[in-house]
Amino acid sequence: MKLIIASNNAHKLVEIKAILGDRFEEILSLREAGIDHETVEDGSTFLENAVKKAREIAQISGCCALADDSGLCVDALGGAPGIYSARFSGVHGDDKANNRLLLEKMRGVEDRRAHFTCAMALARPDGSLVTAEGEFHGLLTQEERGENGFGYDPLLYLPAYGCTSAQLPPEEKNRISHRFKALQALVEKLEKEV
Ligand code: IMP
Repeated sequence: MKLIIASNNAHKLVEIKAILGDRFEEILSLREAGIDHETVEDGSTFLENAVKKAREIAQISGCCALADDSGLCVDALGGAPGIYSARFSGVHGDDKANNRLLLEKMRGVEDRRAHFTCAMALARPDGSLVTAEGEFHGLLTQEERGENGFGYDPLLYLPAYGCTSAQLPPEEKNRISHRFKALQALVEKLEKEV
């Protein structure tokens, strides 16, 4: 069975292909599958958005589709920026502005607990669905540290590693990340189905 990943993000594709291995005949990005489709992410949770993306691509393609949605949840901000992580500062994908705004909102706040969440959804053409979630916990720093990764990585300090997520080698982050955990949980569910 062919699997289409509802993304063109090269980094995500490599990560997902490595974890799924030979479970699917062929794993294609949207571009590789010749699909030009943008899902309106208007769900109120990560899971709703992931399910919506996966279902739309499964319907368009007639193949299995895998989609994810992720973001940063800060305890002291009641879970914000959450599903609005990519556009926290108002401009979609402006990591620098998002990080600046987050540091500003957290100035003087003692409770620095935060985590990344990732929801994964696999939709099949018959309408069936498998979902899983993963989290990656840390503490917010007072300033950006590290050059690796993307998004909020320079602000999430990982006590067990003594550095931020952006200071971890990418292979290391990929072994402990919210995306990795969500995908692993999804694979476990798929294996139980057989
Ligand atoms: P997406 O759903 O994977 O596109 O992620 C949405 C937003 O969440 C990104 O634009 C980042 O701001 C944030 N985010 C998600 N995963 C990560 C991560 O692993 N590191 C840093 N930021 C992340």
